[in-house]
Amino acid sequence: MAILSIVIPCFNEERVLPQLFQRLDAVAGAWQLEYEVICVDDGSRDETWKMLQAQHARNPRWRSLAFARNFGHQTAVSAGLYFASGDAVVVMDADLQDPPEEVVRLLAKWREGFEVVYATRKKRRDPLLKRVLAWAFYRLLQKLTPLPMPRDAGDFCLLDRKVVDVMKALPERSRYLRGLRTWCGFRQASVEFERAERAAGVPQYTFKKSFHLAMDGLFSFSTVPLRLATYLGFWVSGFAILGVVFTFFQKIFAKEFTALGLEPKSGYPTVIISILFLGSVQLICIGILGEYLGRIYEEVKGRPHWIIQASIGLEIKAISNPGSR
Ligand code: UDP
Ligand code: MG
Repeated sequence: MAILSIVIPCFNEERVLPQLFQRLDAVAGAWQLEYEVICVDDGSRDETWKMLQAQHARNPRWRSLAFARNFGHQTAVSAGLYFASGDAVVVMDADLQDPPEEVVRLLAKWREGFEVVYATRKKRRDPLLKRVLAWAFYRLLQKLTPLPMPRDAGDFCLLDRKVVDVMKALPERSRYLRGLRTWCGFRQASVEFERAERAAGVPQYTFKKSFHLAMDGLFSFSTVPLRLATYLGFWVSGFAILGVVFTFFQKIFAKEFTALGLEPKSGYPTVIISILFLGSVQLICIGILGEYLGRIYEEVKGRPHWIIQASIGLEIKAISNPGSR
């Protein structure tokens, strides 16, 4: 019988875990296959780890590992994928925003022969600001990357073993998994679903974490920002040439220009504005360079992506994955 692995990153999720245990096990019968759940405790400071241990005692299909500190959601999912043994792997959040009841629809597509089945959010019940920013981000990313990134698709998805093996072999540390998933190719299908509200507890993704994830997506999958300096350079020099021509004629035909109300003036404000404008354009461009350079630096150090402190029900040979070098 085929095995399905479910990977669930958990960070301070004590309030939602009882519901998760109950709802997931309740729908598992409908899958008609053997399953294991791999929870990755991403350095929680609450009772999450104790609850995961208790759940393993109740149902040994629930296996877990705990990071030595908070490494972040994408790293937690990556570690889950690393230790999953299933023929297919489903990635979902702990907070039941990705309803376990939808897994059966992902499985149906997998059985049709798709290797990647991602869930697309039809409706989001997140705060307005988050919805607007997410809407804008997905569209911007689509414009800037050559990959066919689907809009409004989160991490909730099913991956075939082949895809999981490709993803495991990717060495990079700034892991925007939705992008990597698209990058892998294979036959991809989407399933629409309504994203529920968080079942309990508070969001663990702060604005800062979401922002960093968006930046990872943008900078890991597009080099268009690097070209921005060139485009801006051309535009600004175009304006500068127009300015020179205008001033030249203004000096020669001073009378005519004065009649039109455009008499030559000594222009402190213009000088200052252009200095500030050019200065800020340059700073932005240096910042963009720094953004890429910082990422290269992080990758080159080749430190392991995670460190494991404890595990239950999993055979873990090394406490960290090999770094990228
Ligand atoms: N999460 C994690 N590490 C973090 C932040 C979040 O493993 O540093 C997990 C969290 O436990 C949840 C999932 O990632 O299972 C999504 O987080 P959350 O629900 O807070 O994000 P949102 O749904 O608000 O984007
Ligand atoms: Mg959530």
